[in-house]
Amino acid sequence: MSELIFPPLQCGHLEVKGESRFFPVNRIFCVGRNYAAHAAEMGVEVDREAPFYFTKSPLAYQPSGSVVPYPPGTRNYHYEMELVVLMGANTFKCSAEKALDSVYGFACGLDMTRRDLQLRAREKGRPWDLGKDFERSAVFAPATRAKDFGAIAGQRIQLAVNGATRQDARLSDLIWRVDELIAHLSRFYRLQPGDAIMTGTPAGVGPLMPGDSIVGMIDGLEPVKVEIASAA
Ligand code: MN
Repeated sequence: MSELIFPPLQCGHLEVKGESRFFPVNRIFCVGRNYAAHAAEMGVEVDREAPFYFTKSPLAYQPSGSVVPYPPGTRNYHYEMELVVLMGANTFKCSAEKALDSVYGFACGLDMTRRDLQLRAREKGRPWDLGKDFERSAVFAPATRAKDFGAIAGQRIQLAVNGATRQDARLSDLIWRVDELIAHLSRFYRLQPGDAIMTGTPAGVGPLMPGDSIVGMIDGLEPVKVEIASAA
């Protein structure tokens, strides 16, 4: 084996409900504007032409229950509550009919966002990386296996800040369903076990301050929790 100059990065990993082993987190794909009411609050129209994506480095993953410092370079740090799909099989050019067979499970997740940097980039037609892909920006709760969760239907997806509800929608409000997203994404990537897909946020996104406490919930899944600390 080749000798390395320093140890390679280690993947983060997720607890799984009812399972002693952990789920390693590989690539993180994120879907933009997948709830009509959220697209409207962002001042953009939804089109049904095709979903679009951005990515977060696996280094962005942070387990639920953490205290997260207010990130550098922003004055408008937002929460976005999302359903996370966790892939359990190699998937390439699959049909929507077969797509759910490749899902290991689901989790509640937070797509933490430096909104000022994202919007500045958007206005100039630049990539969103500074706004979206930064340390601790993908907070995932413990996973639930797909067979334990059951079918994706009208489950409620909610988020509260300091106990006050800010986001409240249903998974049936997703513009692109999970099977459609996997089928579409697998035309462009060879999806692998460990890959995660953040499926987009409902309306009600907003800013956070140090001291805030966030809880995100989806019926049938473990809640995702995070506390915001002062800037490091
Ligand atoms: Mn998002």
